[in-house]
Amino acid sequence: MALIVQKFGGSSVADAESIKRVAKRIVDTRRAGHDVVVAVSAMGDTTDELLDLANQVAPVPAPRELDMLLSSGERISMALLAMAIHSMGYEARSFTGSQAGMITTADHGAARIVDVTPVRLRAALDDGAIVIVAGFQGFNRDTRDITTLGRGGSDTTAVALAAALGADVCEIYSDVDGIFTADPRVVPLARKLDRVSAEEMLELAANGAKVLYIRAVEYARRHGVLIHARSTFTSNDGTYVLGEGMTDPRLTEGADMSDAIGMEEPVVTGIATDRSQAKVAVVGVPDVPGSAAAIFTLVAKTGANIDMIVQNAQSAQAGRTDISFTLPKQQAVDVVKALAAEREAIGYESIVHDDQVGKLSVVGAGMRAHSGVSVTLFEALSKHGINIDMISTSEIRISVVVGENDLDEAARAVHAAYGLDGDIEATVYAGTGR
Ligand code: ASP
Ligand code: MG
Repeated sequence: MALIVQKFGGSSVADAESIKRVAKRIVDTRRAGHDVVVAVSAMGDTTDELLDLANQVAPVPAPRELDMLLSSGERISMALLAMAIHSMGYEARSFTGSQAGMITTADHGAARIVDVTPVRLRAALDDGAIVIVAGFQGFNRDTRDITTLGRGGSDTTAVALAAALGADVCEIYSDVDGIFTADPRVVPLARKLDRVSAEEMLELAANGAKVLYIRAVEYARRHGVLIHARSTFTSNDGTYVLGEGMTDPRLTEGADMSDAIGMEEPVVTGIATDRSQAKVAVVGVPDVPGSAAAIFTLVAKTGANIDMIVQNAQSAQAGRTDISFTLPKQQAVDVVKALAAEREAIGYESIVHDDQVGKLSVVGAGMRAHSGVSVTLFEALSKHGINIDMISTSEIRISVVVGENDLDEAARAVHAAYGLDGDIEATVYAGTGR
């Protein structure tokens, strides 16, 4: 008998029928003899609809009240799910985040979990009940107010519950089969991964993969939680996300995993694409100490999150250089404005703002042990006549910025070049992974 935490995203509980289907899945797990704790998101697009309503009554809704409003979405789905389970003859109890002991910081809309005190959940489990917890929300001890964890926060709720309760596995259910070598909507020959390291998953998520949220993966890695990302719509195994020292449980269950044993770590595990960024180039910056500091002090003041930074060795003009960086598209306008206002002070010549860019990232823990990994990437792009705008690397990742229109073709070409293509086209869902 195991303790299993299951998280169901909004697309898995979008209407009454789906809620009943999820209830059945939970009951099946219970029938197999396991203790079950469920974290659930708001139904379908509820959170977006509530946000919309808020914006109709107030251009800038009060953060405390916004959290009161948004947290109600998960209260609806948790109660309905518990009812559905009851009517199938099983005991279920739903709990809000604060009842579940999700203690957070006081930052409305972006609260972080600081402690989990699941006293009531334990009591309910001891009574033999299935426990349902509202995802995405918590409670701050000082303000005594309800908080939310930020969009997509239910993944983090699930992982935090799994850590606090010492669960055997945290199953994250969505409308896709697991983690793929690339987004199947972009690369039709993408393959589902049986397993991925938490480290690789963090790089993939940070660079555009949307199936799991970064904060949930970070939390899992820090607390040693085993994540199994899988689909609500099939009973197939999904992808296990393994932290350091963890093994795929299927390897010890005697399943045929011969492909996993003795196999060398692949050099490249997956590819992520990201269209959310823009590029800003500051052209003709005086090549003297302090220029970069002046530019990025201004950028930081706008609160922008900078991703890649590239400085040219030399500009067309002697004594000058170009500094380019990428950042989220919505933040680029403010940054350009802030820089333009200080043009004289910094002494640069002009600014180029381009939001028709896309980032392609190649991720693999095996990169550490291999050289020449980037050559495959550059050759594949060159064969397809795709120009590279910027390059950056980490220990286990190489990213390039290309024109937005080239991004899909680039992803397919690079996926093939690293030998990641499967034999058949992946089932392409309208799904979002939520
Ligand atoms: N309902 C929240 C959202 O849509 C939390 C979640 O889905 O995880 O962002
Ligand atoms: Mg949602």
